[in-house]
Formats: sequence, structure tokens, C-alpha cells
Amino acid sequence: MKKINVAVVGYGGMGGWHTDRIREMEKFNLAGVWDIDPESLARARACGIHTYGSFEDVLADDSVPLLTIATWNDVHKPLCIAAMRAGKNVISEKPVTLSVADLDEMIAVSEETGKLFTVHQNRRWDDDFLTMKNIYDKNLLGKVFRIESRVQGSRGIPGDWRKEKGHGGGMVYDWGVHLLDQALTLNDDNPLESVYAHITNVTNEECDDGFYAELRFRNGLYYMVEVTTNNFIALPRWYILGENGTSVIEDWELNGKSTLVHDWKKIDAVPVKAGTGITKTMAPRTDETIHDEPLEKIHGQWTQYYDNIYDVLNGNATQIVTHRQMRRCLKLIEAIFTSAETDSVVKFRED
Ligand code: NAD
Repeated sequence: MKKINVAVVGYGGMGGWHTDRIREMEKFNLAGVWDIDPESLARARACGIHTYGSFEDVLADDSVPLLTIATWNDVHKPLCIAAMRAGKNVISEKPVTLSVADLDEMIAVSEETGKLFTVHQNRRWDDDFLTMKNIYDKNLLGKVFRIESRVQGSRGIPGDWRKEKGHGGGMVYDWGVHLLDQALTLNDDNPLESVYAHITNVTNEECDDGFYAELRFRNGLYYMVEVTTNNFIALPRWYILGENGTSVIEDWELNGKSTLVHDWKKIDAVPVKAGTGITKTMAPRTDETIHDEPLEKIHGQWTQYYDNIYDVLNGNATQIVTHRQMRRCLKLIEAIFTSAETDSVVKFRED
């Protein structure tokens, strides 16, 4: 097997993660890294990694056909375009860029040069997402009418560029892009019809420190995405409601369960006390009509992402994260910002 040389641009947290993974993989070889920060380069050298003298030096290295760009969000676009124009294939970290107009320019360069251009949407292989997707795809709950997808932190935005608009900061571009890509991946063939969203500025004025987005798909599915950074009690990672049951996936460790109804018609219940009154409607079901099932845990193989890149570069596959999907996700992000700014439901037009 001929290994493919990769250079990583941006050797911070995620650049370090890519270099570590690439060094473990059989199909790739880490050629070196470049970062504008001399201290990052020194750290790389201390780990035995070759460092380049400039971005131009990376582009001039004919032994390297592939770059992974893991810099701040605002410079993904110029770096990816320069790389493709220099004959390199590129993986950009997410978000691929900050607007659909910018992405269109990047896609045009990819088409003109014939170079691979894609984005690292690694969370398509997260166990929690795949476990939820399995419930949905297998129809375990009957027709699913609502999915709630949440991540909730309690430290605000970390004290780096993610707080700065000029660098493409904020939580919509940060965690949001992952959760939105998951929502769209689950509904790849199911048109998105409308979006209602609001963003929060609880701990940060310059950039959004969280958001809530309600997505309505053509098949009637309502899909809620929530990213927040000031929650000291977190709600479950996933909450899935179907006609015949409910599933909860509490966390990334896949704690949770499904509760299924096996005798829907037996709905008679004894009223229970509720606050200052009583209720029959909200009384819990009796045990003989429902039962719990453990979650079928699905474990993802994230290395399939780089395996796919290898196959694409050898002419044996098409890219998993496609230009259409990248564009759809950025269009959704733009719709979220528009909805939040205008406090209105935004109609979504699929291309
Ligand atoms: P970071 O601040 O830790 O690292 C970014 C590095 O990029 C810094 O070392 C900085 O000096 C360098 N840099 C900035 N501009 C550059 C340029 N023009 N040329 C070369 N180097 C440059 O940030 P991070 O947490 O590693 O995030 C980097 C990217 O990875 C972001 O796009 C982020 O959204 C993404 N990310 C993805 C995931 C994921 O799971 N896919 C997780 C975390 C971060």
C-alpha cells in the first residue's frame, strides 16, 4: 500500500489531534506541520515532527498531495484556495468557511483545479449520533415526530479566538456546525422546509455563546438543536419521540433507554394529583402497557473518514462529505442567523 503524505496547517488543539491520528494510520504519512505561531512549531519539533518554514514551503513540497487545514475559522478559505491552486487536495476543519458565498468560491476552485476539497465532519461517526440514527432508521419508535439534540457546557466560550467575530468565533460555527450536519445527514433525502432560531449572549457579547434552532422537515419531523455554554445541570444529549415510544440518550457514554408502548389502546388511568389540581391526561402509564429496552449501542469507526479520502485520491470512491452537503449546512447556518436577527420563521429552499 502506497502511503499518502499529509501536511497539517495549524498545529493547535485540533492540528495536534490530526497529526497524532495521521501518525497512527497505515495509509498516511505525516510529512510535517506549519503554524504561524513559533511556539506551536517548537512544540511540534519537540514531538519529532518536521516543521516547514512557511505556508509557501508547504505548497512547494511536491511530495505532499494532501493538506489538512486546522487553523482558526476565518482563514480556512484563503488557505484552502491557495492550496488547491498549488495543486494540493485539501481537508478543511469545520466550519469549512463562514458564508455560502465564500464556499461557492472554494467549490469553484475545486472544480476548476480538479482537486479534492472537503470538510472534517467527524461527528458523523460519534457513537451517540449513530445510536440515535439506528433507532430512527430501524423505526424502533414508529414514526418519529420530534428529535432534540443538545450539547450544554457551563464555562462560557473558552478564552481564545472562539470569542472573536473576526476569527469566525461563536457557538453556531463551533459545536453548531457539528449538530446541524448530523441533523442534515439524518435527513439527507428529506427536504428541510423552515427554520426558527434564536441565539444567546449570556456570557459573551461579541459572538453568540449558544443558540436554539427548530428545524421542520417535509416529512413532518421537528428537529431541535440546542448549544449552550452556561448550564450547570445538563439535559440529555438526545431525546427522541415517536408514536410508539420515547428514547433518551443521556450522554456520550450512551447511558439511556427506550420506553415502548405495547398496548396503546389501554389508556385508562387513575387521575393523579398535580400541583393544585388533578390530571388524568398527564398521569403516568401503568406498567402493563409499556416496557423499557436498553439502547442498542452503535460504535463508530471515525478512521473511515480518512479511509474515504485515501480511496478518493486513488480514484476508488467519491467523497463522503460532499460539496452539496457542505453547502446545505452553511445555508442552514445562514438561515439560523437570519431567523435570530429577524425573530421570524425562515423558509428554507433546497437547491
Ligand atoms: P487552536 O487555537 O488550538 O489552534 C489553531 C492554530 O492555528 C493556532 O496554533 C494558530 O497559531 C494557527 N493558525 C492560525 N492562523 C494560521 C495560519 N494562517 N497559518 C497557519 N497557522 C495558523 O484552535 P483549535 O481548537 O485547534 O481549532 C482549529 C480548527 O479546528 C477550527 O476550525 C475549529 O473549528 C476546528 N476544530 C474541530 C474539531 C472537530 O472535532 N472537528 C474540534 C476542535 C476544533
